[in-house]
Amino acid sequence: MNSLGLYLHIPYCLHKCGYCDFNSHPVNQGEMDAYVDALLREMDHYAREWSAGRTVASIFLGGGTPTTLPVSALETILDRCRNRFALEPDCEITLEANPATISPGFLSQLRNAGYHRISIGVQSFHDDELKLLDRVHSADEVDSTVAMARAEGFDNLSLDLMFALPGHTPERWRESLRRALAKDPEHLSTYNLTVEPGTVFEKLRRGGRLTLPPEDLQLELYQEAIHTLTAAGYRHYEISNFAKPGRECRHNLNYWNNGDFLGLGAGASMGLGGRRSKNFNLPSRYIREVLARGHAVESSESPTPREAMEETLMLGLRLLQGLPIRQFEDRFQTSFQTRFGKTAESLLQKGLITLDNERLALSHRGLFLADSVILEFFA
Ligand code: SF4
Repeated sequence: MNSLGLYLHIPYCLHKCGYCDFNSHPVNQGEMDAYVDALLREMDHYAREWSAGRTVASIFLGGGTPTTLPVSALETILDRCRNRFALEPDCEITLEANPATISPGFLSQLRNAGYHRISIGVQSFHDDELKLLDRVHSADEVDSTVAMARAEGFDNLSLDLMFALPGHTPERWRESLRRALAKDPEHLSTYNLTVEPGTVFEKLRRGGRLTLPPEDLQLELYQEAIHTLTAAGYRHYEISNFAKPGRECRHNLNYWNNGDFLGLGAGASMGLGGRRSKNFNLPSRYIREVLARGHAVESSESPTPREAMEETLMLGLRLLQGLPIRQFEDRFQTSFQTRFGKTAESLLQKGLITLDNERLALSHRGLFLADSVILEFFA
């Protein structure tokens, strides 16, 4: 039976963080009930076509901030997933959470509803850095959220951290890593702060009021994370992700391995049966479209063979295990050596990739420069 990942986007946040370019919108109590209804309706629409003969291996509620919804709505959403799809017995069920939105009663109900993995947006254990990032929680609130989650029986926690903040130093980054490790999380994601177009941070940078650390320091901080986390027993399995053995994020692995995934909600993307599509971003527009059509697709396309190849290479190289070359050649009916041999040779000499008969992978330096290295294959 084919398996499927299910992603549900909850676009509401208490406040827009300065660096954020995700599809997030201010909490809108007057709209949120209609949004959940639309999400359920959209799920019904796709289940009619895609649930037969398939199982669901993972469910991921991301955002935005899913925990801005009332817990009863989060229960209803998961119940509907169970009713419409055949969930695998060990289906991974994740919910992203902001420490500022969590209480013990909330977590207890989530656990009873069947959510068992929580991904917590921590970003830093220094209050001044959290303030700089425009986060609405404190480091103490992270401590209490993790303690509450453990007390309620969540045995699969992921913590997100961010490095290369303005003024960041190795000492401060080590301190955040140390405090994260003290929580003994099953999974950690460490993201390099980038300034994206259209964000508040971009305006600040243009006005000379925000400067990121130089690239050599960014690389040093990245290497510090790899060194500290692998020494603590975590497996570095993707550019930004580390896990205890067997606790890799199954939902994201499916995505990086080019598996089928159904994305529901405002701005969500999906990749099913070789087609890609994307929903309207604005929640109000999303709701209107779902009411009228059952879905809210804004654009849809079947990638050309070249685009599919690019995507497979781009996603596969994110994984530390690298891209299986034989599999790639079989899928695209092409010789890797003939097509990419010259580029691979040049990247090998620069120390940006590793290559054997079986797999192509990025080196540590290559991982840090992943986007530009991958582009070279298609220059
Ligand atoms: S909490 Fe996350 S999704 Fe919401 S604004 Fe901040 S970074 Fe963006």
